[in-house]
Order: sequence, then structure tokens, then C-alpha cells
Amino acid sequence: MSATETAIASAEAHSAHNYHPLPVVVATADGAWMTDVEGRRYLDMLAGYSALNFGHGNRRLIDAAKAQLERVTLTSRAFHHDRFADFCTQLAELCGMESVLPMNTGAEAVETAVKTARKWGYRVKGVPDGMAKIIVAANNFHGRTTTIISFSTDQEAREDFGPYTPGFEIVPYGDLTALREAMTENTVAVLMEPIQGEAGVLVPPPGYLPGVRALTHERNVLFIADEIQSGLGRTGRTFACEHEGVVPDMYVLGKALGGGVVPVSAVVSSQDVLGVFRPGEHGSTFGGNPLACAVALEVIAMLRTGEFQQRATELGEHLHQELRLLVGGGAVEEVRGRGLWAGVDIAPSHGTGREISEKLMDRGVLVKDTHGSTIRIAPPLVISKEDLDWGLEQLRAVLRG
Ligand SMILES: *Cc1c(COP(=O)(O)O)cnc(C)c1O
Repeated sequence: MSATETAIASAEAHSAHNYHPLPVVVATADGAWMTDVEGRRYLDMLAGYSALNFGHGNRRLIDAAKAQLERVTLTSRAFHHDRFADFCTQLAELCGMESVLPMNTGAEAVETAVKTARKWGYRVKGVPDGMAKIIVAANNFHGRTTTIISFSTDQEAREDFGPYTPGFEIVPYGDLTALREAMTENTVAVLMEPIQGEAGVLVPPPGYLPGVRALTHERNVLFIADEIQSGLGRTGRTFACEHEGVVPDMYVLGKALGGGVVPVSAVVSSQDVLGVFRPGEHGSTFGGNPLACAVALEVIAMLRTGEFQQRATELGEHLHQELRLLVGGGAVEEVRGRGLWAGVDIAPSHGTGREISEKLMDRGVLVKDTHGSTIRIAPPLVISKEDLDWGLEQLRAVLRG
């Protein structure tokens, strides 16, 4: 057996099969490139589902992490530490908001957003106890906890995991009339991705997000934007909401906030909203730890330069221009996305998303399929134009068959 086969067989024997990875075993990575255990190189066109916006082994992030490793890594929130205030202040400022509640993973931040919205509903809006409703969109992806999968429409994510948490209402994504009709006196929040990532990089129709904003304002409902995948430079702006001139009441952030080094997530909002929490009502042992804050501070500093947003805009225009040329050629049915982020629907006659992903892997390009026929392209924002062009050339070659 090859080193790859041995590693995969051993992983399959000793781990739960809750993923179906491509048969590649990565050993090292740098920038937009990964190297496997047999020395083969691959262009990373997935970037850890946008957790690696700044690339593998980013010097600034690794240096920040190393320096912090030598100082202090964990205090728990039982004590203050000297990176916490800076992290919260600078993240709030990046978001144009006031207050931060740090967690670790995306799902925890979404859970935090749900709890915040409910508490705000009872304490501030005056919703009767136990009656709070949160409206979400069909085909959403907000994580994997029992509460979050309770409001998923993906059967695979839900089946056998009930009983489900009540208190959620699902409306079609992009349909303002349906949203208006779903709102009641007890609606405390609308929770949505400004671009649906896992669903296949679905961009809502123009005017939808401003419509959601107007409706939520009108009905005293919180607009919670889950920017865990769409945020932090991916679309060419710091937040995908900015493309529509929308400022939500709360951002939910994760993935790239930890620079692909450590898991860091956060809910960012106003004092009025996050001010509902009192000591002991919510928390996390690792949330806001010194190592997480040190890395995230470097992420925030990099985003403040605008350089990565600029790259995503310019390379994204190029990516979409090239991908559009493939539509109508028989192999590609539709291309969607914004910035350096695209969902490409493969015609069933040319194979499944999985088959295309495997063929791309054989040519040294790593992507991942979603929902059967879609491949998602989301390279690190540090990718060079030459490498991006090379990756696109491999895609064209695979689609030519
Ligand atoms: C990835 C993702 C999450 C969940 O994040 P985890 O860190 O995997 O828990 C939530 N929302 C969106 C939009 C995501 O893309």
C-alpha cells in the first residue's frame, strides 16, 4: 500500500465516518498550495471553506501565534488577560459595532446569537416568556448542533437527531413576501446568510437584503447576518452585507477570524443587544483566550489594510469572467457567487460534483462538491493570478473530458 492508502485505511478504521474526504493526505502547506505525504503538490481552491482566507502558513499569523504561545495561551474568563480588550475593541470597530462576545467555533457563535436574540426578545422587546420565534431561510447552513440542525431543511443534517428544538420558522430564501407573512409580534430575529455558502454559493436577488433590513426595522426584529463563510474579505468586502449597503444588528463571525490557525468565532452587536447578558448566563472556557485573540488581532489588522478585499475583488472579477465562459458549453449549467467565491453547477451528463472534484484532484487542484452537482471554488485570497489561471485551466481540461 502507498503512504496515502495506508493513512486513509487507518483513518477509516479508527474514526467516525461523518465526512467523505477526497483521497488525499496532506502533510504540509504554504500559501495556496498543499503537499501530500507522497510529495505531490495541490492548489487549494477550497481554503478550508473560507477559514484560510489568508492562506496556509501566513507569516504574520504564524508569528503572532508563536509570540503568544511563549507568553500565555489560556486564562479562562475567570481572569482578565492583556489581549482581550484589544481584540474586542478592534473587532467591534472593524464591524462598525460596539460589543463583542467571543466563542470558538461557528456553531457556538450561532448558538450564542440565538440565545442573545431570545433574551433580547424577552427583556427588551417584551415577548411573552417561551414564545420567541426566530425566522431562518430554507437551505440555510448555520452549523451542526442539535438546535441548529432543528432549523435546517437538509434531511441528511436532521435525520435521526430529533427531538428538535422549537422556536424557528423557515421561509424561502430571497422571498420578501414570505418573510413579511411569517413575522408576528413574537418574532425576535431573522437569522440569515447574506450569501448561502453550503447551499451552493447562492446570492439572493438584488434588493432582498435591504428588504430584510427594512422589514426587521419596521417590526422591531433583530437582523442577524451569519457572515461566518461570506465575511472577512471573501466577497471583496469585509462583509457580504456591504454589497447591498446593509448593516445588520448583529454579525456572526468565525472561520477566517482564526486565520486557519485556531478556532475563533464571535457575535458582534450593539451594547443594547449584547448588554442583555449578566455574569454566569453564557460563556465558554476557551472563548476569547489569549492565543485566539492574538491571532484574530492580526487577522483584523490585515483586513484593515483593505488589501485582501481588493485582491478578492480583482481576482474575483477574473474568476467569474472565466467561469461565465463555461456556461452554455454543455458542461456547466450555472455559475454564481461574488468575489473570490463561486458555485459551479455541473451538468449531470458531465459527472457528479464528486467525480469532477476527484478528476481535479488528479490534476493537482483541490475543491469540494456540495449538494451533488455543485463544486465550490474559494481559494485563499493570497492566491496569485497565475495560480488561479492554472487552476481554471485544469477545470476546463476536466470538463472537456
Ligand atoms: C461553517 C459555517 C458555520 C459553522 O461553523 P463551524 O465552525 O463549522 O461550527 C455556520 N454558518 C456558516 C454560514 C458557515 O459557513
